[in-house]
Amino acid sequence: MSARAGIVVTGTEVLTGRVRDLNGPWLADRLLELGVELAHITQCGDRPADIEAQLRFLADQQVDLIITSGGLGPTADDMTVEVVARFCGRELVLDTATERTINDIVTRMMARFPDVDADAVLAANRKQALIPAGATVLAPVGTAPGVVVAGSPTVVVLPGPPRELQPMWLAAVATDEVQAAIAGRTRYEQRTIRMFGLPESGLADTLREAERRIAGFDRLEITTCLRRGELEIVTRFEPADATAYADLLELLGERHSREIFSTDGALVDDQVAELLTGRRIATAESCTGGLLAARLTDRAGSSGYVAGAVVAYANDAKTETLGVDAALIDEHGAVSEPVAEQMARGALLRFRADTAVGITGIAGPGGGTETKPVGTVCFSVALRDGDDGDVRVLTRTTRLPGDRSDVRERSTTVAMHLLRRALTGEG
Ligand code: ATP
Ligand code: MG
Repeated sequence: MSARAGIVVTGTEVLTGRVRDLNGPWLADRLLELGVELAHITQCGDRPADIEAQLRFLADQQVDLIITSGGLGPTADDMTVEVVARFCGRELVLDTATERTINDIVTRMMARFPDVDADAVLAANRKQALIPAGATVLAPVGTAPGVVVAGSPTVVVLPGPPRELQPMWLAAVATDEVQAAIAGRTRYEQRTIRMFGLPESGLADTLREAERRIAGFDRLEITTCLRRGELEIVTRFEPADATAYADLLELLGERHSREIFSTDGALVDDQVAELLTGRRIATAESCTGGLLAARLTDRAGSSGYVAGAVVAYANDAKTETLGVDAALIDEHGAVSEPVAEQMARGALLRFRADTAVGITGIAGPGGGTETKPVGTVCFSVALRDGDDGDVRVLTRTTRLPGDRSDVRERSTTVAMHLLRRALTGEG
């Protein structure tokens, strides 16, 4: 047994990308939690024929449940209920209880707009009280009611604004009609593993081996995704297949222990935030322009462990604000490991910090050379343990792909991982 669903996101503003779809992904998460398999999310504009085509397509895929988002407003371009009624072979009938509810809401709202003709507004809103015969009405969160039309598939019609759709979905799930439609659902477990420093091809090789070695591997639904230089592996499985997942985790651990940094879904930002508890960090940034400090403060507690940041682009700025030796810059170049290290040490002193990161690189375009092309970035982490303790440094150079904003963004990720390794002593 299983239950499958499809989502139709309507709205020309969403189709054209002016508004980013928040409802499809949000509903996808809710369906996953419920153990309902999501087959498709489709998008179309506010045209009846297109909405109907999407409904037809999903019904042809044998889904048990279709959820629509958008097009419930009072204006003429909002016509989802009408299309769904026709698709389900139901008449549109005026629901007087719903009409009264909408009237009350609108009358209250109109009190704030005395110049608007309340009768005209009420007439427009009357359209929202037209319901497919026999459908279950979901009480309005804004002014628009939603509906559930039982059948095969069962169709749930929800409004477009996310703050209205979300509470209404919770009401829809509680109805007998939706419960009947998803009766075949199973429970899914979902786990996330994160790696850094492994190319996708390396993982593909391990997964091929897993396929040969692990019983029940084919029942694990694995999706891998490369994000900001990290590899994210999301696995979904039914509870009965937990052993296969444990075997997979073991194999990945055998082969990639250095690259795996999270098996519980935690982000490197969460881990670094935890490692920095009780410490005081400062950054000295060139090509990242303060982005690392900003990223660190996202997770800083109210006490705030980020002491400060220096953004220094020019050579004399590095010398004056961070005490980087001008002769060292002449000798090695501004983008070099010795300079990154002196920047980190400079930030440590300047902010009386016990943890500091120096970043100097070429984010481009232009400025690259044959030996140091665009994307060359040097990182240094300096740690002081105890008041008069020695300073330990961990320094690395990487070559990052992409344009200026990619290099900046990726640099903050590399810095987070270097920090993590330095603070855990894995360096
Ligand atoms: P209204 O009564 O506000 O017109 P509606 O149910 O008719 O509600 P739409 O007209 O489709 O909904 O969308 C209204 C607004 O809600 C959109 O302009 C947009 O700002 C937001 N919205 C709609 N759909 C989405 C979506 N999928 N993701 C994010 N925002 C959305
Ligand atoms: Mg609308």
